[in-house]
Amino acid sequence: MGHSSYTGALDIGGTKMLACIIDDSGELVVRRRIETQALRGAADVIARAASLLRELAQEIGIATERLTGIGCSVPGPLDSARGVVIFSPNLAWRDVPLAAALSKELGVSIKIEDDARCAALGEARRGGARSAQNAVYLTISTGIGAGIIVNGRIYRGSHGCAGEVGHITLDAGGPPCACGNMGCFESLASGSAIAARARQAVVHGDESLLARFRDEPALLTSEHVIDAAHRGDGVASRILETAALYLGIGLAAVATAYDPEVIVLGGGVIHPDGMLLRRARQVFSARVIAPLGSLVRIVPAELGDESALWGAAALITGDTALDARQVIDV
Ligand SMILES: [Zn+2]
Repeated sequence: MGHSSYTGALDIGGTKMLACIIDDSGELVVRRRIETQALRGAADVIARAASLLRELAQEIGIATERLTGIGCSVPGPLDSARGVVIFSPNLAWRDVPLAAALSKELGVSIKIEDDARCAALGEARRGGARSAQNAVYLTISTGIGAGIIVNGRIYRGSHGCAGEVGHITLDAGGPPCACGNMGCFESLASGSAIAARARQAVVHGDESLLARFRDEPALLTSEHVIDAAHRGDGVASRILETAALYLGIGLAAVATAYDPEVIVLGGGVIHPDGMLLRRARQVFSARVIAPLGSLVRIVPAELGDESALWGAAALITGDTALDARQVIDV
């Protein structure tokens, strides 16, 4: 064996599950992706996650017990200290003792953390926020979530709620949000918000490339809107303008609260060269308190759908292997 130690990482998402093993210099050794099949229930998902890790370990000729640990990213809310997923709407899990269950299967210590916080750590470690001491990762997808890095460490807050910025009210009379409130950042700028506005326009009978969804508006997604806007569709462009307005205002709120060096934007709705990001940056610069407009960088995530996987690995390895200047103590 050329290396003395290996670390495992696992990212359990609503639809897919990613696992990898890295060596002690932080290099990827082996990686695999399978379907989560969340509908089969927590016990089944955990059993398949365990065999996935076992398989990867076997391929490099070690037992999972030889790993220094396995970091695991999972949609929360969760209690990272106890290793319990409290409630995960994406997986339909409630009070699942994930760390204990995986540890029993694999004979190695397991650390779990919320997916947005893992993604923040991954991007801070080797992505769009690398070498930043203070950074925010925002995921703009079905909802809006955040992971906050303060002084190189994940910031969880006093009650584990730091990063719930998707539920900052941006419009007192705005559309209803999944959280029960109304006018939340998430209900105005997420992929679901974009799709909801487009469905309204289509049902209303507006002339648009999206009108083909008139009979089945439920099939209309934010991706269709982004695509139509890039093809010059007026209705789709206006909907993206509105989302960009609230995204920019939300970014200004986040930047003002945390004063980070960089805000990294991930999630399926963000296209690196897309109109949404471009317009949101303009709104951000115009709305944020004076010095921050030119100081806080707004960048797309660099690790694609692997931000959380790399962050999960960093739960175990810390940051010393890759960049001694930046110690991330998780
Ligand atoms: Zn909300």
